Amino acid sequence: MFKALLISKDDAGYRTALQTIDETVLPAGDVTVKVEWSTLNYKDALAITGASPVVRRFPMVPGIDFAGTVLESANAAWQAGDKVILNGWGVGETHCGGLAEVARVKGEWLLALPSNFSTRQAMAIGTAGYTAMLCVLALEKHGIRPADGEILVTGASGGVGSVAIAVMAQLGYTVVASTGRPGEAAYLKALGASEVIDRSELSKPGKAISKERWAGVIDSVGSHTLANACASTKYRGAVAACGLAGGMDFPATVAPFILRGVTLYGIDSVMAPLEVRQEAWLRLSRDLDVAKLDAITHEIGLSSAIATASDLLAGQVRGRVVVDVTR
Ligand code: NDP
Repeated sequence: MFKALLISKDDAGYRTALQTIDETVLPAGDVTVKVEWSTLNYKDALAITGASPVVRRFPMVPGIDFAGTVLESANAAWQAGDKVILNGWGVGETHCGGLAEVARVKGEWLLALPSNFSTRQAMAIGTAGYTAMLCVLALEKHGIRPADGEILVTGASGGVGSVAIAVMAQLGYTVVASTGRPGEAAYLKALGASEVIDRSELSKPGKAISKERWAGVIDSVGSHTLANACASTKYRGAVAACGLAGGMDFPATVAPFILRGVTLYGIDSVMAPLEVRQEAWLRLSRDLDVAKLDAITHEIGLSSAIATASDLLAGQVRGRVVVDVTR
């Protein structure tokens, strides 16, 4: 028997509760993992609260990420005792996830824990941090260099935003952080932002094209923010779009793309191929200052995850949350 968050949906409605369950609840898989740490991402908060139809099978253990130790494996790639991480692949949505003491998954979904991270640090990064790195890689591969100018990071105080700022600053870029929480300016500057702007500058309907400012953009907000970011990206610059914290719409025109040659990269972490994940985690292990990671992270127990999910959706959680699944 082990502890897990369990989401149910039936005639009594949609609800999430901390429960003690056994392995018969877990789906088929060839590797069983003792989860040490999990985390709360934006998507986990949507699943736990039922705010969006993220969960597509019931009962479901939420948690799109986990890090832990292999207990049993029928997959040749993994042996008992291996330290592993998992991000995405529909885990926590269609396949029971990481907000539990035990998970059973397909071995092909797992990655080896990078040797310089603890399981707790890997979850402090989690899907949000790995997605931030996918955005960084998209801008780098586009050819954007620190000398090209400012990089805008939106949703700056959130999980994706915080890691994106820390990594881009570490790589020598000049980072401008857009936030709705001016009180977090000192935090954002400590992560490496050169300037902090109010997100209201970007979140209202704007012009089809405006003054060129950004060499590159990492956007986790969407909607008018993404449209305005594209409209103010410099000639042949690039925007990496990964999120919808401000809305799923994209009220833009083609002007930035056809007049300035701006490129919009879509970033998906969930089904990204193995080699893409390996590259992102390798780069996180090299380019993310773990001292900054500590500043980004705060810890909760599994029993607090339901309350924290509501706080996260209300924009009241800064940076990243790690979840100790044993308490
Ligand atoms: P967080 O909740 O940690 O951060 C989101 C941030 O967005 C908030 O901290 C806030 O930053 C800002 N924000 C929130 N609401 C609004 C609003 N109404 N208007 C403008 N800004 C707002 O979430 P994550 O960082 O974990 O995820 C960010 C987004 O990226 C989510 O939409 C998530 O679904 C998506 N995502 C996508 C992935 C993919 O594979 N494509 C993977 C991971 C995440 P501030 O207070 O500083 O303004």
